[in-house]
Order: sequence, then C-alpha cells, then structure tokens
Amino acid sequence: MTAMTELPGGPALPQERRVVTAVPGPKSQELMARKQAAVANGIGTVMPVFARRAGGGVLEDVDGNSFIDFGSGIAVTSVGNSAEAVVRRATEQLGDFTHTCMMVTPYEPYVEVCEELAKVTPGDHAKKSVLFNSGAEAVENAVKIARAHTGRQAIVVFDHGYHGRTNLTMALTSKNMPYKHSFGPFAPEVYRVPVAYPYRWLTGPENCAEEAAAQAIDQITKQIGPDNVAAILIEPVLGEGGFIVPAKGFLPRLAQFARDNGIVFVADEIQSGFCRTGQWFACEDEGIVPDLITTAKGIAGGLPLAAVTGRADIMDAAHSGGLGGTYGGNPVACAAALGAIETMREQDLAGKARRIEEVMKPRLEKLAAQSDVIGEVRGRGAMLALELVRPGGKEPNPEATAALAKACHQQGLLVLTTGTYSNVVRFLPPLVISEELLNEGLDVLEEALSGL
Ligand SMILES: *Cc1c(COP(=O)(O)O)cnc(C)c1O
Repeated sequence: MTAMTELPGGPALPQERRVVTAVPGPKSQELMARKQAAVANGIGTVMPVFARRAGGGVLEDVDGNSFIDFGSGIAVTSVGNSAEAVVRRATEQLGDFTHTCMMVTPYEPYVEVCEELAKVTPGDHAKKSVLFNSGAEAVENAVKIARAHTGRQAIVVFDHGYHGRTNLTMALTSKNMPYKHSFGPFAPEVYRVPVAYPYRWLTGPENCAEEAAAQAIDQITKQIGPDNVAAILIEPVLGEGGFIVPAKGFLPRLAQFARDNGIVFVADEIQSGFCRTGQWFACEDEGIVPDLITTAKGIAGGLPLAAVTGRADIMDAAHSGGLGGTYGGNPVACAAALGAIETMREQDLAGKARRIEEVMKPRLEKLAAQSDVIGEVRGRGAMLALELVRPGGKEPNPEATAALAKACHQQGLLVLTTGTYSNVVRFLPPLVISEELLNEGLDVLEEALSGL
C-alpha cells in the first residue's frame, strides 16, 4: 500500500492521522447547526465531524482533520472509499445510462452481479439472485421468498439479532432502543429464540453451543411447530448485537435442524459478508451452506445495493412480478459492485482481513490483560470488538464504552460502538488500510483506554 491514495480528479489523500483543530472543529460545528435545523432528529451522529474526502484508511473532515478509519461507514467501504475500480466502473456506467428499471428494460450489469454472487457465495448448487437497495429490503424479500417456497408463515430469529429498520425487519430485530421504541405495532409470526453467546451464557462458555441450540430447537418445536416455520434467520456473526460469534457448533446444529424440517436457513451476511471476516462469507468458517443469503453493506464500495442469493428452486418460488422495486439493482450500483468484487479478488481482501486480525487481536488481547474494563476480545478477521464491563464482574459498562469512543475520536481515530447493552467498541477498518495506520490506530486506542 502506497502512502497516498489517488482520488479521481482530486489531489492525493495523505494516508496519515492529523488533528489540527478541536474535534469537532469550527466548520463541522457550523454544519452541525445547519443539520440540526434541517435534518430530522431521528438521524443520530456517531462522530460529530463532517466528511470532506475519504480513501484508503483515512477520512478527512471539513476542518482538515484526518481520522484513521476503523468504521468503514459500518462495514461498507471494505475496498476503501472511492476505490479505483468502483469509481472507474460506476463513472463509465453513469455516462451510458443511469436507470431504465430492471423490470422495464433489463441491462447486463444486473445479470453480471447475480452471476458473480452465484460464484462467491457458499455451495456449488444452482443459484439465483435478486437485487435491492438496502439490507432491510433484502431481508424482507428473503422472508417473502421463504414463505412462498414453504407455504408457511413463521420466522425464527435470535436474541441480539439485527435485521433492519423497516416494519418487518424491526420485528425481526431484537433491541428496542433505538431501533423499535415507539414505532410499533410490529409484524406478526416472528419468534425469538436464544443464541449461543459464549461470554454471557449463564452456565459458562463450555456447553454454550449445545445448550443454546437445544433451547432454541425446543422452543421452535414446542412453541411454534417446525412445520409452521418458513425460515430460520441468523447473522453468522451478530453485528449490532455486539459482534457476537456464536459458539462453535451452534450454527451447524440449527442448519441441520432446518434441513431436517424443510425450513429455509437464511444467513444474514449483510455486515459479515464480502471478505470482512477473512472469508468471502462468515458462514464458511463452519462449512455452512445457507439456502438463502442476504448481502448489502460491503457489496458495492458504498453505493446502495443489496441482494438475496440462494438455491434456484427456492428463489424461483416467488411468481414473476412478485419481487422487485423501481430502483433495485440500479445500473450504477451494479457497476460499482462489479468494481468492488474485482478489487476483493485482485487484492485478496479476505487475506487482508485475516492479516488485520493477526495484527490487531494480539494487541487487543494485551490491552485486555492490562485493563479491568475489558471483559472480552472477540470477532474474526476485520470484524473485531471489545466488550466493556464494570471492574470485577460482567456488568455492562456503556459509560466507559461511550467515553472510550469519544476519546478516540478526539485523537483522530474513528471507532464505532455497538451491542445490546451499548458496551461494545467495534473495529471495522477498510480491508485496504495500511499496517502502519492499523498500528497507529491501536496506539491511540491504548492511550485512550489508559486515560479512562
Ligand atoms: C445493516 C444491517 C442490516 C440492514 O441493512 P440496511 O442497508 O441498513 O437496511 C440488516 N442486517 C444486518 C446484519 C445488518 O448489519
């Protein structure tokens, strides 16, 4: 990785951390006042600075501060911001046409993205895809497809699961605040069961997978009836729930239960997919081949695109005209996705994600050994996290989490928080970040932690 990232039409973006004003600086504060007057309060802000440019491993704000990016716009710009192939392909497409509507006059880039999805997703069975604008829309449509295929209605989801902010996906999502509060009533026929969360499993992590799977299956069997269940929907690594990696054995057990009972097993890989965890998809870690897989976030280098990919016979259960949307699979977003996938292949970004884990995890574990507020270090590849607790126990520590994130922001490191208990600091660097920046970011984190 060179020290500079060439942005099309602009000067090179120095790959450095640089704090030249208070954070937020005066220009950001001015813009924030305009935001407060013009943008609805429902849109919150993690770090109150306004972006001007971003690329490689940094994000520059309007005051000239340059932040090391450990967020990637929530696991979206895995190939980096304004990645060369994304910009090149999207720009070409912009010049040819911007929209015809796939349902009116089809175009090749949509088909090409579906062909690529069939190649990169797990399993060598016949696959088909359908494209949408957002992750929530993909999840909604996976549910529609599973219901059409099975003729059943019930959907099984998990504690700590997150699937989006539309009405059905709010119902599928576990956490009330901020996602659901005051927004009900929610869609029916959604059932929540336990997930194997090793750190917080009451009898300890050793039997967590077995016990959690047994409880989940018992609840499905006794409370719903397997022959009423259309789909089991789970994130192979739970994102907004706190970067929970289900104990090994839990996912295969549920996938097997789904197979045995004619239930569609859906992996929501919207956050964990596209090389983020060191493989194309996180479910590969335990050799799971989902019937359907939902993707978005990392798929198109920042342009809005999402997909449902799966077994051709299941995907074809929905009648012609039953799926779609005006903008779904927009040609510019499809061109960007082809650029992003090309980048992931050519630069072996799955390998880069594994390397990021190799650099970060030992340092995070060293920090945990020295700190009485770090309860656990977890995650895979470039999807890593710290769970913060009160000293001496496991009680969640959201105050320390917020303070740590803020201290990092003020020193030029963009980190995000997450978790059901708002006590997890998560790390999602762009997979193209340099090792120098990665280590410098960890230096900042270390210092911020010591100042808590
Ligand atoms: C972000 C996310 C979604 C929702 O995607 P949007 O594009 O925000 O609608 C769904 N599932 C998971 C696992 C996510 O991380």
